[in-house]
Amino acid sequence: MGRLGYYALTWIRQAPRRPIPTDLRAELLFRSEHTCCICRNPYKDVQLHHIDGNPVNNILENVAVVCLDCHSRVTGTRGLGQSYSRHEVRKYKRSWEYVVLQKRGMRTRSQPPSRETLGYLDFVVCEILATKSTGRAEELLDVIGNFASGVAVRRLRSA
Ligand SMILES: [Zn+2]
Repeated sequence: MGRLGYYALTWIRQAPRRPIPTDLRAELLFRSEHTCCICRNPYKDVQLHHIDGNPVNNILENVAVVCLDCHSRVTGTRGLGQSYSRHEVRKYKRSWEYVVLQKRGMRTRSQPPSRETLGYLDFVVCEILATKSTGRAEELLDVIGNFASGVAVRRLRSA
């Protein structure tokens, strides 16, 4: 190894581990639901892992949330077995963060409607029953369609 290479290596080894900024740390843990992206076990303690091995590269894409067991599988040697590569860890991170995002989306959608919404829908339904115009009834059904899922509206229409 050349002199420069030696110095570079020494610098990397001695580079002060700049702590991950608090807001980035919070964002990472939030995106991964404070759960290891590899084994996805929600009851395990987690650590933050620099995917490229550079402890000062504190960007969102480079830090993965992993549990202690998976962390040692990522950084340690596995003898003849394959350890987790950087590319693999990146895939695990992306895929788990996507799953969490999807889960949150579903949770918001399945939340019960507010009192105001129910009251308004009640009013719209009364209008539909009262009106003698099929056109008006169709219009009002479309209003309900904005709140309810497509399935519910189709049921109403066929009733
Ligand atoms: Zn794990």
